[in-house]
Amino acid sequence: MELPQQLKERLYIFLGAPGSGKGTQTLLLADKLRLTRIEMSKLLEERFLNAEPGEYVESEGKKYYVADQQKLWESGVLNETPFVVDTVRARLKRLKREEQSILLDGFPRAISQMEYLMPFALESFGKENIIVLYLDVDEEDTIFRNSHRRICELVRHPILYIKETEQLTLCPLDGSKLITRSFDTPELITTRLATFRKETFPLLEYFEEQGIPVHRISATGSVSEVFSRINTIAQGV
Ligand SMILES: [Zn+2]
Repeated sequence: MELPQQLKERLYIFLGAPGSGKGTQTLLLADKLRLTRIEMSKLLEERFLNAEPGEYVESEGKKYYVADQQKLWESGVLNETPFVVDTVRARLKRLKREEQSILLDGFPRAISQMEYLMPFALESFGKENIIVLYLDVDEEDTIFRNSHRRICELVRHPILYIKETEQLTLCPLDGSKLITRSFDTPELITTRLATFRKETFPLLEYFEEQGIPVHRISATGSVSEVFSRINTIAQGV
């Protein structure tokens, strides 16, 4: 089936705090609207894996070696903006040639990144085809849900904390034991939320200043309730 014209060649940017359920929802949305989803962390890993020896990105006379960026990545530090943006831009260019609509998950993380990408995004997609969705969570709710989230021991299947799974002790898919991940402590979740608030949240105002409306969606409720809100908005814009 041919997609309606208005669903062609759009750039969806999906923002949400850690623990908002963003990963699950972007998968569902990409599937529903047949968008190509770019998961930023996976894209970077791929670039490190496929880099030629000595490969670098040059921006304003400065060289950013892929090998150095890989070291930053492995130590958990944010990569430098010109490198991240070059990586995402190269992938967007390729997909754009194939006339695909794209969903970005995990990019941008800060205003500086988006400022860098904006000229390309405006030229390639046009302002009216950049759709920004923001999944809005209650902080206490997300701390609670994330510190109660579990994975299975065998395959690491994520088990969301919802009333249907509350009583589960074994993975419904493989029967292995459910465990809590070491970085899902309330303290670490609070730190990740603080970083989001400081670095990523100001992007909402930035987009609005650029004349790109931000569609705010409540993340409260079950996966299907939240998705139905997102779908309504994504189809309506
Ligand atoms: Zn499992």
